[in-house]
Amino acid sequence: METIAVTGIVLSAMQVQEADRRLVLLTKEQGRITVFARGASRPRSALVGVTRPFVTGEFELRPGRDAYTLLSARPREYFDELSKDYDRMTFGLYFLELAAYFSVENVEGLELLNLVFLALKALEKGKMPVPLIRMVYEYRLFVISGEYPQVFQCAVTGKPLAEGYFSLARREALCNECAGGEPGLIRLDVSAMYTLQYILTAPLQKLFGFAVSAAVYEVLSGLLAAWKKRFLAREFRTEAFLPELAFPRDGEKAPD
Ligand SMILES: [Zn+2]
Repeated sequence: METIAVTGIVLSAMQVQEADRRLVLLTKEQGRITVFARGASRPRSALVGVTRPFVTGEFELRPGRDAYTLLSARPREYFDELSKDYDRMTFGLYFLELAAYFSVENVEGLELLNLVFLALKALEKGKMPVPLIRMVYEYRLFVISGEYPQVFQCAVTGKPLAEGYFSLARREALCNECAGGEPGLIRLDVSAMYTLQYILTAPLQKLFGFAVSAAVYEVLSGLLAAWKKRFLAREFRTEAFLPELAFPRDGEKAPD
């Protein structure tokens, strides 16, 4: 029987039948796939510890007509530290649910997989404020989807922007001169503009290692909230469980 090996992360696991688990995996090779793990809920099953959310590694699968069957797994990362902290774990589960939504079936998913992995690592490390990790992660999900705020040139003149205004209606930014009088614009001063351009383009490895002022966070999270309201009219189950975490005021250390 033919088998395939994929590298990926378990996004969700649900018990089905008596002892089986139905998994959704995000993989480098095949994007989002559904995998059945037979008998994985039995305490003595070799699959019991590797068929739960956050487990990352290599999975050996047998392709079937509608879904894959999990034969074995070589886990590399469990994100156990996350499970020890309720707040961080709920954010982690929310990140996984978003990844399931933004992933595509049977299409290579390396960039998304790397983004999820690095966001979970940042959550686990706890150096960067959680609201900032979440904001950066969400912006980059939109970048991967191909639909994100264009803030690099003025929508009217094409002039490169170091500051300006964002227009939700246009999905693009405008320079100070062109913005005059348009309703509903979001002001992006030099710091906010620079930070947003950085978030949208920085290499993934550098994405979760910077700080911003509370003022910049305020502006960029407001823009993101407006963007989501307009272009992502959808509720996520895990979002309801997210604790309210305030962004640290300037000079304040991120809470551990
Ligand atoms: Zn302009």
